[in-house]
Amino acid sequence: DHKATIIDGKAIAQTIRSEIASQVRLLSQNYSKVPGLAVVIVGNRKDSQSYVNMKRKACAEVGIKSFDIDLPEQVPEAELITKVHELNAQADVHGILIQLPLPNHINEEKVLSEISLEKDVDGFHPLNIGKLAMKGREPLFLPCTPKGCLELLARSGVSVKGKKAVVVGRSNIVGLPVSLLLLKADATVTVVHSHTPDPESIIREADIVIAAAGQAMMIKGSWIKPGAAVIDVGVNAIDDQSKKSGYRLVGDVDFKEACKVAGWITPVPGGVGPLTVAMLLKNTLDGAKRAIER
Ligand code: NDP
Repeated sequence: DHKATIIDGKAIAQTIRSEIASQVRLLSQNYSKVPGLAVVIVGNRKDSQSYVNMKRKACAEVGIKSFDIDLPEQVPEAELITKVHELNAQADVHGILIQLPLPNHINEEKVLSEISLEKDVDGFHPLNIGKLAMKGREPLFLPCTPKGCLELLARSGVSVKGKKAVVVGRSNIVGLPVSLLLLKADATVTVVHSHTPDPESIIREADIVIAAAGQAMMIKGSWIKPGAAVIDVGVNAIDDQSKKSGYRLVGDVDFKEACKVAGWITPVPGGVGPLTVAMLLKNTLDGAKRAIER
């Protein structure tokens, strides 16, 4: 019976975090500089809070100083923007992360474009995305989840060049940037979205599948080309009465079935998620290094 190689995102992220920790130590020894990350959260969404706590804890673990900014749900947009400007000016802050989604009364696009390009560790600034889309331009930062997907492939020995890659989803934070990254890495890229007829036949052709649709187990094992590398970004809660919480998390891929066909596959949880956090730390470190060079 064929069994795919499970890509252990937790272990890979741990390796990356220890690489980062030793570089953080070097920075403080040689330049007396500690990389700093401002983590901004607005309101008290449970999921956002748990992501933010995870990020803050991860900073502490590698020696990055996190600046915690917790704003109430009702904070006026202008006040949030003023806060961003303060953080832009603050020399010991090298990265600014604003946890999304923001409450409805705040214009996300407007706020994100106020973050200084040099501190855009999430890589969501339109100029960073624009540069990512252009040949011969280098964005200052790559978005964390897409960068994590490529890192998982690279560290698992999956080559991208010349491969057929299919990305399911085209959001600003995952699908679109991951498709641009794959293109930059010389894959032939197809993007599938909610208006794509017959996604199955397209996915079946893929040597590399990046699933980021947010649809529980929509990609069946039979859709996977034998030997393909499958990176499952999706995180979906489904009912599970055998769990104390009453639910469990699954990806966009039917993991159990896909394991019988794929060459490599990431589990959910424990695949892409840990990489997203590790790439955030890496971007913050890079931001601090660039600040020193300046
Ligand atoms: P969005 O909801 O913003 O985007 C979903 C995309 O998938 C859209 O482009 C949509 O198409 C497409 N889509 C939806 N349904 C289908 C379908 N049936 N067939 C084909 N395409 C479809 O989600 P995000 O990009 O923000 O996130 C995607 C998933 O990744 C979520 O489960 C999220 O929780 C997870 N995630 C995980 C992270 C991690 O670190 N592990 C980080 C970020 C997200 P259209 O554009 O036409 O609407």
